[in-house]
Amino acid sequence: MSAAKPIPFLDLKAQQARIAADLRSRIDAVLAHCQFVLGPEVVELEQKLASFCGAKHCVSVSSGTDALQIAMMAEGIGRGDAVFLPAFTYTATAEVPLVLGATPVFVDVDPSTFQIDIAHLEARILQVKHKGELRPRAIVGVDLFGQPADWPAIIDIATRHGLFTLDDCAQSFGAHLHGKPLGTQADATATSFFPSKPLGGYGDGGALFTESDERAALYRSLRTHGEGTTRYEVLRTGMNGRLDTLQAAILLSKLTVFQEELDARARIAAIYSQRLGNAVTVPTLVPDSVAAWAIYAILLPDAAARDRMQAGLKAAGVPSAIYYPRPLHLQPAYAGAHDGARLPVSEDLATRIMALPLHPDLTDHDVARICDAVLANAA
Ligand SMILES: *Cc1c(COP(=O)(O)O)cnc(C)c1O
Repeated sequence: MSAAKPIPFLDLKAQQARIAADLRSRIDAVLAHCQFVLGPEVVELEQKLASFCGAKHCVSVSSGTDALQIAMMAEGIGRGDAVFLPAFTYTATAEVPLVLGATPVFVDVDPSTFQIDIAHLEARILQVKHKGELRPRAIVGVDLFGQPADWPAIIDIATRHGLFTLDDCAQSFGAHLHGKPLGTQADATATSFFPSKPLGGYGDGGALFTESDERAALYRSLRTHGEGTTRYEVLRTGMNGRLDTLQAAILLSKLTVFQEELDARARIAAIYSQRLGNAVTVPTLVPDSVAAWAIYAILLPDAAARDRMQAGLKAAGVPSAIYYPRPLHLQPAYAGAHDGARLPVSEDLATRIMALPLHPDLTDHDVARICDAVLANAA
């Protein structure tokens, strides 16, 4: 068994082979026209992404992190502002408010779906209001691991408290909630094209979606140094946050197989859940949703069981990963900003969560091998 070739956690080579001819011609077109910044592929990609998720506007940017930053800059979020976000997420979600001088207020997550805990979100907003030191300004809901957060509930809280809503959809572009693709749930939606995301480019990239004409115009200005109607009119402090034309060309090629890939991810996730559900805790599906399955995370009983599982899988040539080994409120970088609240669910998940490989190029044989290895190593 150990003689078998290790399965890749992520297989970008296999995908490249599937789209090789189209990819080449897309790249060659850019090399021919040389409009490397804001070339025609950028416009085409924005139109196709907007129609893919049913959003009025798509503004492509240089990364998912920059998408979050531009969205918050457009609202004027800064010093004295509280930005509510889950503690169990990737670091970028919390980094951005701090870069802008605002304060992240960490919220715990639901123990079964791992999405932001709605009751705790409201409790944290009331706490901040009661303390009176920070101004509640925004909620960043994260669609974690490919599943949607509970957007109707988040919007309801945001409306009652007058807060801006930003959907950090970096892991979940392509997912649906209540029959609608993510991209139009919040006031603005940010996504990422980092290579390992469901729609990944060959480098950094990201996009913002919004229904608001004013916000879209601001995002376009902010991604190009705050420019006005002419290039040398500077209206506001912005950044260099554009998506490269080459990256847009690559994403256009990847977009031609994106739905197929989402379907393949969903098929593999269903096999995992069906085969492994009695041996380990498999993901709880968010009701009335379709996941993008960026990450398939299982729960083990405790840290020791997780260590044993990871070691056993490794010996069988099956890689695994831990998202996330430490919740953000316990990261040294955020200690100074955190008010000290305990977030027991996030803290517990970090000790016993583990991700199995899930990408569209896993073969049925790979999937069977992964399931066999998990079952063999489950206590
Ligand atoms: C990947 C990720 C980001 C950041 O995206 P980049 O394109 O890497 O900057 C932000 N939030 C979440 C939840 C992510 O997973």
